Amino acid sequence: MGGKSVWILGDQLLRSHPALEQTADGSVRIVLVESLEQAQRRPYQRKKLVLLFSAMRHYAEALRGAGYEVDYVRAARAIDGLRQHVAAHEPDALYTMAASSYRGRRFQREYLAGKLGIQVVVIPNSQFLVEEHNPVPDPEPERQYIMEYFYRDMRRHYNVLMTADDEPLGGQWNYDKQNRKPLPQSVSPPADPSFEPDEITRAVMDEVAELSGLSGTVEGFAYAVTHQGAQAAFGNFIAHRLAQFGPYEDALSQRSHSLFHSVLSPYLNIGLLEPRPLIRAAERAYREERAPLNSVEGFVRQILGWREFMYWQYWRQMPELLGKNSWEARRALPAFFWTGETDMACLAHALQRAVTTGYNHHIERLMVIGNFCMLAGLEPAAVNDWFSSLYIDAYDWVMPPNVIGMALNADGGLTATKPYIASANYINKMGDHCQQCTFDHQARHGQEACPYNFLYWNFLLEHESRLRSNPRLGPNVLGLRYLDEADRQAVRADAKVFLDGLRSR
Ligand code: FAD
Repeated sequence: MGGKSVWILGDQLLRSHPALEQTADGSVRIVLVESLEQAQRRPYQRKKLVLLFSAMRHYAEALRGAGYEVDYVRAARAIDGLRQHVAAHEPDALYTMAASSYRGRRFQREYLAGKLGIQVVVIPNSQFLVEEHNPVPDPEPERQYIMEYFYRDMRRHYNVLMTADDEPLGGQWNYDKQNRKPLPQSVSPPADPSFEPDEITRAVMDEVAELSGLSGTVEGFAYAVTHQGAQAAFGNFIAHRLAQFGPYEDALSQRSHSLFHSVLSPYLNIGLLEPRPLIRAAERAYREERAPLNSVEGFVRQILGWREFMYWQYWRQMPELLGKNSWEARRALPAFFWTGETDMACLAHALQRAVTTGYNHHIERLMVIGNFCMLAGLEPAAVNDWFSSLYIDAYDWVMPPNVIGMALNADGGLTATKPYIASANYINKMGDHCQQCTFDHQARHGQEACPYNFLYWNFLLEHESRLRSNPRLGPNVLGLRYLDEADRQAVRADAKVFLDGLRSR
């Protein structure tokens, strides 16, 4: 009775949790709440819930092993679990680390103390480097801030891949030009590391399999659920994928689930891995000549650049971000998004992966699924809900800036300076899906034409004047001059038939 309690959120399973460091006076008790209501707020991916709950239970075991008293509560809502804890242990104060989500942080700061009737101490979040060093602490509301400059500032500040003269190693800040290769037949990406479920994980799998209203299945769950396991997954990436990460970063393929991507976001987003050691280990791999600079810089750019930038954008734009829809896209999500049953080979591959595994690599998310959503004018909030439901690594801070900001350009261009739109030409150039597809990737319109084509040209026609005003889209819009009036009519007609034929759930 009395003393301090520390509430550790499910996505904050840090090896050295700052709230434990601040309360290291021996009397601390830890509470973790497994919240069923939260787990069923959306049709979540079952594998994500298995990962989260199993990692939480393993974390609780590890803390007990380290000598802590741990109260692991299962309750409908987080607040119910915390009330139960306070009633049973009567702590004087509850320490907690600031949530990564807007809603969670508001709850901690504004409501929790009142609801529990005890002192609540919210300490800063340590899962993002930008919480410690913010390159743009006071952004102007409508100004565009480019990821590239944000990233360079982070590189300088954290002295990552820099020379002694404060210049980027190799003389360039980025090596994107070397990093746009399709996957040749002669190159076979390694299989993802696989972790056999132990007793705790199997018990969680059984429980989650029984929950209704969710997506996907628990079958084939093979993620790590501990710090050691996540570290092993990272070691596997450094040893077997990092060297090729750069060249094939933008590739698409039927032959592989993740190509040379790291599949580390599920671990990073719940605290089993942390950004700083990953960045340092990648840098070490370059200095020890285990991976070339274009790959190492490419990977560092994802973690120190994009990940931190997206978190920054989230906090910059919330809560308005969730309602943004600058292209006024209103179409409902097609029913096939929940099954992957479509004849477009690239989209079917990506959607089926999302439904069954909860994972797609970045280019599948952005240039296959996101691109389709943008061209088809799907409503941003519905697309955000779908991604948030199905993905193994989906959390409130990461989805809206990626979906509403980056993929759908619905925030007025604050996150990305241009919409990421492309016809089948790009998908064919970067991947092997078109070779096995029933549609013709070269035809602009007509029965055989790939829908990405007529939707793309239709989008350019519909938004021509707005697109012309964006200097980065000049070349795309210029392509319209190759369409004569008959082409334009055919593209519009095909797009209309296709879009009118989309059935929502
Ligand atoms: P890698 O390609 O190996 O990259 C390494 C790491 O960099 C990732 O693990 C991730 O932590 C980080 N990273 C790279 N790009 C981003 C980014 N844009 N935002 C945040 N982190 C980034 N990422 C999520 O973590 N959760 C999501 O739910 C999510 N949804 C997305 C939805 C859309 C429409 C798009 C376009 C992107 C989304 N991303 C999301 C970002 C990115 O696609 C994933 O982080 C990445 O694909 C995860 O796979 P990986 O670990 O193999 O990544």
